[in-house]
Amino acid sequence: MTLRYILPDEILCVQADWLWDGVSDTLLSRPRLLIRQGRIAAISSCLRTRDHRSTGTFPERVAPPGTGSPRTIPAESMPVLHLPGCTLLPPLIDAHVHLGLDGRDFAASRAAWQSEEEYMTRVARHAAEWLAAGVVALRDGGDAAATALHYRQSKNPAWPLLRTTGMALRHPERYGSFLGPDWPEKKLGDLVEELAARGVDWIKILVSGVVSFTRYGQVGPLHFSQEALSALVAHARQLGRPVMAHANSPEGVKQAVRAGVATVEHGYFLDEDCLKEMAEKQTAWLPTIVPVANQVRTELSAGWPAENRRVIEKTYRRQQEMLLKAWELGVPLGLGSDAGASGVEHGRGLLQEMLYYREAGLPAVQVLRLATRGNAAILGIAGALPGVIVPGAPAALLAVQGNPLADLRCLERVKQVMLPASHV
Ligand SMILES: [Zn+2]
Repeated sequence: MTLRYILPDEILCVQADWLWDGVSDTLLSRPRLLIRQGRIAAISSCLRTRDHRSTGTFPERVAPPGTGSPRTIPAESMPVLHLPGCTLLPPLIDAHVHLGLDGRDFAASRAAWQSEEEYMTRVARHAAEWLAAGVVALRDGGDAAATALHYRQSKNPAWPLLRTTGMALRHPERYGSFLGPDWPEKKLGDLVEELAARGVDWIKILVSGVVSFTRYGQVGPLHFSQEALSALVAHARQLGRPVMAHANSPEGVKQAVRAGVATVEHGYFLDEDCLKEMAEKQTAWLPTIVPVANQVRTELSAGWPAENRRVIEKTYRRQQEMLLKAWELGVPLGLGSDAGASGVEHGRGLLQEMLYYREAGLPAVQVLRLATRGNAAILGIAGALPGVIVPGAPAALLAVQGNPLADLRCLERVKQVMLPASHV
């Protein structure tokens, strides 16, 4: 895998076997892309050019940007990047990760939060694992040490483009002490203000508990009354921060939707009424199938007694059914792996989540759209990363070996990740 940063004054022609532009249902054959000023300047197809049906051939001469009196460069001197056997597509986005956890050793991850140097190293490693997998934007669901927020503020990396929550708001006696502090409920408005002042992009709120792997359908008690939750969400929105809500059970999801959250995370055991409300209010849903399904679909399965495996299997199969129903009902869907949760590794979780969507019955092209343009819209990052490859879009490209519309697994074979050196 090669990670290539495109400099603002660089001119480059990229040729591959196919292009999926993020919009079409099909691939363009033998694409040629001209990249200039950190953006895609033109797209043409060698095949079309040859039989004179092209609508967008490259200019014979190009003027380098920022040179005052432009000089011309002969077309033959333009550097060409050949990517034989590859498909070009928009890079991927994971809308729910925890960079401060590694998905393998929860205790070690938490112990690392005691040392800024150690957790910074871990967060940077996880971010690099995502980039190597072609996932160039992330929304972090937070942790009690706000590791991802510290990382972004001190390192200020251009990529992966990181949206942060810092830490989660929660009831002090309920689930999630590793995600957020034990602040009394009446002080949580102050925490919203403090997090906003520290520069978070989103506010994360825990609305319910977590899915049980021993008792089917159990998710723990709700954290707040409808009134209290609605007030917190309104407070966050007043400060320009949308809310991502960890919510399971029909009651938890309805409460979150009625409070006006932007995204419902997990949503295990939600019912059809919840989906109808979400479709009506256009509340996005990220079902995070991986952290549950991986328990029985990977080597982790051996660690669970048969009784637990049955509960886990039934839980994620139901989630896949509801995902398909949500898609049919027009609920805006996102994709989040919850990487960092037990059994979900950075750099791998998103493709696993995509494959579980595919298994649920969504077409591959639709899954790809959700992981690119769909997630970009949910995260509000379409300016820097629109999730489409069209003239004028930033030069953010992923090249994978094979045809991802035929088999999503070829996203494991990343050949190149190309990104503008800075956001354009
Ligand atoms: Zn999470």
